[in-house]
Amino acid sequence: MERIYLDHGATTPLDPRVLEAMIPFLKEDFGNPSSLHFFGREVKKQLEEAREKVAGILGAEPEEIIFTSGGTEADNLALGGVVRALREKGKHIITTAVEHHAVLDTCTALKKEGFDITILPVDCYGMVEPQHVKEAIREDTLLVSVIYGNNEVGTVQPLEEIGQITREKGVLLHTDAVQTVGNLPLEVEKLQVDLLALSAHKFYGPKGAGILYCRQGIEIDRMLYGGGQERGRRAGTENVPGIIGMARAMEIAVEEKEENTRRMEKLRDKLIEGLLSMEDVYLNGHPTRRLAGNVNASFEYIEGEALLLSLDYKGIAASSGSACSSGSMEPSHVLLAMGIPEQTAHGSVRFTLGRHTTEEEIDYVLEVVPEAVQKLRDMSSIYQGKGEGK
Ligand SMILES: *Cc1c(COP(=O)(O)O)cnc(C)c1O
Repeated sequence: MERIYLDHGATTPLDPRVLEAMIPFLKEDFGNPSSLHFFGREVKKQLEEAREKVAGILGAEPEEIIFTSGGTEADNLALGGVVRALREKGKHIITTAVEHHAVLDTCTALKKEGFDITILPVDCYGMVEPQHVKEAIREDTLLVSVIYGNNEVGTVQPLEEIGQITREKGVLLHTDAVQTVGNLPLEVEKLQVDLLALSAHKFYGPKGAGILYCRQGIEIDRMLYGGGQERGRRAGTENVPGIIGMARAMEIAVEEKEENTRRMEKLRDKLIEGLLSMEDVYLNGHPTRRLAGNVNASFEYIEGEALLLSLDYKGIAASSGSACSSGSMEPSHVLLAMGIPEQTAHGSVRFTLGRHTTEEEIDYVLEVVPEAVQKLRDMSSIYQGKGEGK
């Protein structure tokens, strides 16, 4: 049976070139980079080269890179670490209704500590209006956090415009850029951001490695206590193989960005066009300002979970909303924030393409989905009643 992976938004396979780069650090180069002897020194050197590589890609200084255990930790550290360090200066945080839970749940936790949270609305495409950011900024605002490319619906936010506003107002801007490596520009100066979170396993690197870019001069309270690693900002022995692999993966993603993006966009648009040619199917997210690999569609009259199971049976791996919230029957907070009715939100499925996705795979999906949807609709009482002025 075919096995087609269209869930690259959840995670990506490890690139063999990345594995290759990691292997020495899982074998002979096992030293602890904090050790003073030659086992440690050699590894430390490689670790710092990885840091320089990553910093170069972001247009940042090596000292501005904090290696973390992934995107979740980077988001937690960006928000919690910064506002706790600045708590004498204010207590207000601005974010959006379409953030990943790594940001939203951190805000919920910070609220319990006495911080004030403003959650900005989005339009029907999931876009944040920069003017809303401007209006929400107060005297005591410390930080604004806006996701760069949305993991569920693929919408790309106008970060540069938002960054101009936060710069003018002297407020810090954090972005969760986890979904964007290999597709969108990452230079922090261009984006006008002060903090930026990345995760290796979303760009063909290993799981358990991430990055927080933190602009020079920004104070940050550590969340982990222990050694003085990462300039005292993140204690714990570095995940050396993970970091080496992440730097290599980022290098590859940037080298192959134009070609992969072009290919993926073409396949994405073919899939969108095919799905929308079905009756009562809608695209979620922005029609053009969207991630190269993201297709999120609502199929009226059916449950997204039921469609996922039918697709799984046919060898197609997709997801409903974000992997973190699937399994629960709560409709996606992102779709609801976009004003999509609960019923329609329940019928949504996300296909996320990757660099290895082929046209044959998309053709197969476009063959299977209409059949599966029709079968499910034939069993649905709401659908049966459709023509009868329900
Ligand atoms: C996957 C993801 C995260 C979490 O990253 P992990 O490395 O899995 O912890 C955060 N934000 C977004 C947008 C993501 O897609």
